[in-house]
Amino acid sequence: MSKLLKGAAVAESLAEATRDRARKLESNSVKPTLATVRVGENPGDISYERSAGKKCADSGVAVRNVVLPAECGQAEVLEVIESLNADPSVHGVLILRPLPKRFDGETIRNALSPMKDVDGITDASLAGMLTGGGYGFVPCTARACIEILDFYGVSQEGKRVVVVGRSLVIGKPVALLLTDRNATVTICHTRTRDLPSVCREAEILVAATGHAGMIGREHLSAGQTVIDVGINVTENGICGDVSSADAYEITAACTPVPGGVGTVTSAVLASHVVVAASHAYQATLKEAALRG
Ligand code: NDP
Repeated sequence: MSKLLKGAAVAESLAEATRDRARKLESNSVKPTLATVRVGENPGDISYERSAGKKCADSGVAVRNVVLPAECGQAEVLEVIESLNADPSVHGVLILRPLPKRFDGETIRNALSPMKDVDGITDASLAGMLTGGGYGFVPCTARACIEILDFYGVSQEGKRVVVVGRSLVIGKPVALLLTDRNATVTICHTRTRDLPSVCREAEILVAATGHAGMIGREHLSAGQTVIDVGINVTENGICGDVSSADAYEITAACTPVPGGVGTVTSAVLASHVVVAASHAYQATLKEAALRG
């Protein structure tokens, strides 16, 4: 029987550290603040906006929700982003995506200031992660996977890790983070030959495919730790990319869905906002010192 790596304890431990940092900033009259930007009334976006808002409030972070009508134009979205970039009382911005297909997603994501890019969507943040240049932030979900492994004492050093999925949101960033942790990482995708045998070799398996239960018994082996990033809405409710029954039976440890990675993602987001607020505060101190 697999050990369940529940997200709640990880999220609470992160929130505790975030609250501490937020309190210190507040004592210097800085209230860490996140702005969310949503276009239209997509229920998935509304639900993420709500859960992010709850976790932020619980972590000492204020939230401002900006909602644009579904029929708005790209110029309006860019205008909102520019005004949030320029607003010193906003430290982080979360753009709920995917945006409607008529928008140029590249232009919109790169319009965001990397200093406020708390979900690591800009090219500057992604480049910073690649070079270790310290610019911007790592995507929250990728960071959440690492937080879970660390919290439950699953070392990554020297481990054979397989990541199924190569998106910029999850697959590639989590593979990079694990490589930085000295794991030996294989990234798989739809053109990977004999996916089950590649997955079975993994000591840590990260599934981020967007297909309910596609990782099953033939991909799993005893002793594995499985991180299931998937969030799929099915007629039986929310489930992950891994067949939970197979994972519980075969592997050493696995994250549940719901209650796993998703639970930790919002806590990571709140922690990034506090880091962004702290950077902004340090920058104002530096400027003041330079002015004498
Ligand atoms: P994408 O659709 O952008 O990427 C999916 C990746 O999986 C692609 O690289 C694709 O390969 C690969 N893939 C799909 N099917 C197969 C297959 N049969 N065999 C091998 N590889 C396959 O999805 P995202 O990365 O955005 O999201 C992945 C999952 O994570 C989704 O379930 C999403 O809901 C969830 N998610 C969870 C979050 C959380 O907080 N827990 C946050 C955000 C997303 P190829 O590149 O060849 O097409």
